[in-house]
Parts: sequence; structure tokens; C-alpha cells
Amino acid sequence: MKKLQIHNSLSGKIKDFIPLDDKNIRIYACGPTVYSSPHIGNARPLVIFDVLFRLLKTMYPTVIYVRNITDVDDKINAGAKEKNISIKELTDEVIKEFHQNIELINVLPVTHEPRATAHIKEMLEIISTLVAREFAYVADNHVLFRVRKMSNYGMLSKRNLDDMIAGSRIEIAPYKEDPLDFVLWKPAEIGSPSWDSPFGKGRPGWHIECSAMSKKYLGNKFDIHAGGQDLIFPHHENEIAQNFGICDCVPANYWMHNGMLLVNGQKMSKSLGNIISLKDILQRYDGEIIRYVLLSSHYQKTLNWTDEAVSQAKRALNRLYGALELSTESTVDENDDSNISEALLGNLNTPLALRRLHEIADQIYKSSDQTKINVLSERLKNSANLLGLLNKESKSWFKQHDQRISSEKIEQLLAKRQKAKADKNFALADKIRKELLSDNILVEDTKNGSTWKILR
Ligand SMILES: [Zn+2]
Repeated sequence: MKKLQIHNSLSGKIKDFIPLDDKNIRIYACGPTVYSSPHIGNARPLVIFDVLFRLLKTMYPTVIYVRNITDVDDKINAGAKEKNISIKELTDEVIKEFHQNIELINVLPVTHEPRATAHIKEMLEIISTLVAREFAYVADNHVLFRVRKMSNYGMLSKRNLDDMIAGSRIEIAPYKEDPLDFVLWKPAEIGSPSWDSPFGKGRPGWHIECSAMSKKYLGNKFDIHAGGQDLIFPHHENEIAQNFGICDCVPANYWMHNGMLLVNGQKMSKSLGNIISLKDILQRYDGEIIRYVLLSSHYQKTLNWTDEAVSQAKRALNRLYGALELSTESTVDENDDSNISEALLGNLNTPLALRRLHEIADQIYKSSDQTKINVLSERLKNSANLLGLLNKESKSWFKQHDQRISSEKIEQLLAKRQKAKADKNFALADKIRKELLSDNILVEDTKNGSTWKILR
């Protein structure tokens, strides 16, 4: 069998994945901070690493996948205050909604989903060890990590210490020995959750959460640590430093990072008002469409979310489900097609895997041999399932989501388009053409007017 190759941010190279124990694969991914519904940018790593999880499960007997929940954070405190509910009420509500939403985009449940607030004891154990080993110190009711004690700090983000000081927004505080030192434990604030500790009543810093939870569920050393590119510095760099301080080892052998997601070429931000929450987009589109868009770019690249990308995904899924619809009976596919896994083994090349699905659909549409169509449909379904797609029956896909448009409606839209053209409103005419295209209807202009056909 071909080996899995993945890009490792530590080396900056794509290399063969060699597990620590090939009976027992261990992955950790940084999960959501539960103050509001995740946006589509947060959904990207959930889907990407879900594909990795599905792939690894076909290759190894056991895959332990841990994705934490950060349920202690300033944003949570602010959110609860704003809604006038308790922190627990807010986090419970957001977590429930999170699970409902990610189920709709076919993200499988992870093996363990630890919550930060349930692991304060483990965090304090690590902090105490770090203090005892002089990797950390207590100052003004804070416990801080002594960055310069770790000689290879910056190994993941490839930054050197002096550049970090010069170019970053490092918080300068009088109690710090060095401006680079980061917080492991901070004093309690009135109205915010806090816990007793040998260092006084307080709460943990963000980075220590992941070190404590990965160590508890996966041990000092595990295989893959995953997350968004924006977490490389400081979050993952600091996680490495903390773990190094307790075991003199880098916790994960492979660090995988997904690229950012833009909306119409812009970063999502509150000030631009262009944040698309997963919850809202799921009101408008089937979860498989969202998932398809998220898989349509290679995970390391920036993904640009546009209406056009969503229409394209819908069109593509209609085409794939349309191919499945041609099958007359489910059958066994003896010749298990491994083209999809092969694409994924090459550093999770999901765009290539999607192309491979369409190649199978092509063969179905071209074939007139019903037995062959039945076998290929089975292959298409099995292959797509590895990507978490085509989970529905084709009939229910077309019925439930009314993805198909009636001929009356097409004629109506074409008449409207004809009028728009006569009025020289070409923008509207083009909009109608694109709208129809998203329903797999290709409009062609001829001398004698417009004609349409269903695309396969
Ligand atoms: Zn983390």
C-alpha cells in the first residue's frame, strides 16, 4: 500500500508519515472556543482533519483523535454578560449547537472532546513541574513561562527571539523577567471563573490547556498535532515550549496546518461585517454543499469563499447524485477503486480526490451497460464516503433539497432574461444565466432565441 505523505510544519517538508505505534495512531487538534457559533473559517480545519481521521481509520486499527473545547476565555465571559446568562449556560448552549452544526457537515465525532474547565488539575500539575524545573516562575500572582530557558524556542514558527520582540505585539508587563515570557496562570478577576491553586486563586492561560489535554489523552509524545495556520505562533509554539519543559521532548512528530479562509477575497472581520457563521449558512444550503466547498481547495492553500464557489459545489453534487440515480440496484464493487485514497495519501489532496469522483461519474454517464453503471455507482458512493460526501440516497437529495428546477420555472426565468436583454440590463441577464447554471441548466443563445439543456 502507498504510504501517507503529509506536510510537516516543523520541517517545512512533505514526508512519509511514520507513526510512533502503527496499531495506535494519535492526533490532537485545537478545537473551538465556545462563545458563539463557529464561522466557516473555523469549520475548515474541522472538515479537513475529519478527512484525515477517516483516511487513517482505513489504514490503522485504532486512531485516537482528540479535539478540545476551550470553555474558559475572556470572550466567553463577555458573551455571557452580554446575553445576561451564566457562563455555563452560554457554553452549554454553544457546545450543543456546535455539535448539531458539525453533524450537518458530516464531521464524525472525535474519540475524546475534553473541556478545558474539567482539566484545571492537570494544567496545575504541569505548571508546578515547570516551576520546579525552572522553566517557569511566579511573579505578582502570575506564573510565567521563561522563554529564554528553552534554547530551541521558535522551532515551529521559524522565528528568532529578537525578531519576535521587534515585530510582535508582545505584552510588556513590569513583573515579567523578559517581554517574551508568556502566562501560564493569571490571578482571578472579579466576576470571572477562577480556581484555587498553589499560586493563588486564578485561571489558566490559553496555551497550557492544550498541553494538559493532549498529554492526558495522548501521552507526552503523539503523532500529529493539527490546527489552523494562525495558531502556529504563539499558540503552538508555546505548547511545544510547555511540553518541552516537562519531558524534554516535542509533543507531536507532525504538525499540520490548514490555510486561511477569505470571503470574497477579504478576511472575515466584525468591522467588515462579513463573518459567515456555520449556523447561518446551513439555513441556506445543505451541509454537503458547505463541506464540498471546504474540500475544493488544497488544505494548505487559502480558500476564497464566494457565492460562485457555493453554486459550483451545488452543481457538482447534483452531478454526482445524478450519476448515482442511474443505478438500478446496489451491488458489490469487487474492483475496489483506490484512486480516491491515493489522492488523499498525497498530502490530503482533496481537490484531486474530488476530480476523481467526477471521473467515475463521467464513466457512469457515458456507459450504456446497466451492470457496469451499478458497479460504478457503488464505487462512486464508497469513494465519496471517504470524503464524507454522498451520504444520502440520491432520491432524497433531489427531493429533500429541491435541487432540481421545474421546466415551467426555467421557462419563466428565460422569459425574464429575454426581457432583461431587450432592456439592455445585461447584468440581470447574466445573473439569471448563472442562477440557472447553479441548477445544472445551461442556457445557450442562438439566432432563434435561447435554448436550455440539463448538464450532466
Ligand atoms: Zn490548542
